[in-house]
Amino acid sequence: MDSLHIELSQNLKQKPEPSALGFGQYFSDHMFMMEYSLEKGWHDPKIMPYGPIALDPSAMVFHYGQEVFEGMKAYRTAIGELVLFRPDMNLKRLNESCERLSIPQVEPSTLLQGITELIKIDASWIPSGEENALYIRPFIIATEPCLGVRASHTYKLMVILSPVGSYYPEGIHPVSIYVEQRYVRAFRGGTGAAKTASNYAASIKAQEDAKQSGYSQVLWLDGVESKYVEEVGSMNVFFKVNGEVITPALSGSILAGVTRDSVIALLKSWGIPVSERKVAMEELVEAHKQGLLEEAFGTGTAAVISPIGSMKWGELELSIGGGKTGKLSKKLYDTITGIQRGQLDDSLGWRYR
Ligand code: PMP
Repeated sequence: MDSLHIELSQNLKQKPEPSALGFGQYFSDHMFMMEYSLEKGWHDPKIMPYGPIALDPSAMVFHYGQEVFEGMKAYRTAIGELVLFRPDMNLKRLNESCERLSIPQVEPSTLLQGITELIKIDASWIPSGEENALYIRPFIIATEPCLGVRASHTYKLMVILSPVGSYYPEGIHPVSIYVEQRYVRAFRGGTGAAKTASNYAASIKAQEDAKQSGYSQVLWLDGVESKYVEEVGSMNVFFKVNGEVITPALSGSILAGVTRDSVIALLKSWGIPVSERKVAMEELVEAHKQGLLEEAFGTGTAAVISPIGSMKWGELELSIGGGKTGKLSKKLYDTITGIQRGQLDDSLGWRYR
């Protein structure tokens, strides 16, 4: 692999106020870029000023969507260290997405080095404030100018950085969700397990409809029988039923979340029974009837833990936890954010300096 070339920006941007960040609206001064060709493989890694890129209008990504991406965060700990949370998991998942989309895989150490250097250069973009972080978005696009439906012969990998605010400016609180019965996000043999743009494009309509009806997220059911729970919005989903935590198994249509994996590991370490299996809506309704549906929450990099306060399924409206954040949801949130922020011991080795 060629050595990393660095070109620093001569025009540093003004940074936004930490209180006005929101999500994904501002971008740092630099970006990482690397090219792929059949002859050279991945080559020419560089860090350069953030800015627009030129692509041929016939670039394959615009027509057939051959693309993959990732999302993770860099945190500033209480003692000022810059840390990533389990970046090895994100890089592994990126390559799994590449494999599904017929995109050439990337050497994880090369990409991690590029990301690390980029963050060091733009470290002043990690916003102050305990709940703020720097969101890292690596992505790969098919760049060959050609309208044939086949794998591109050239690609561009880029990493951009975005300072983001707290997901819960007023503290962690439960959300209402709409169980989607008309649209599906993924199906057997599809791309649901890959982090690729088309999954998200296909989800927007349902998300808009749910918002219009006053719900903040969509709960996706399986694409074969519309019976089993899969994910909530762009998060994995967990239920606590009669003391046991259950979450849909990774069946091929669900994204293998890094937060999901972390939650399962923590629950096991606390001796709380947790199982990965099929979770039918009927089963949840039955548990709710008997007063055994104790908690429900989504998990993901953006919100970490997002408690679910109610679920609307057809005519049924299930209220969970009396509108309050459950004890387990809160403990998981505090533990994971505590590890990320360096306030808690990292006995599982999840922080990467
Ligand atoms: N499912 C989907 C569809 C997602 O986009 C995400 C966010 N990456 C997740 C689950 C949660 O994954 P993670 O915990 O790695 O952020």
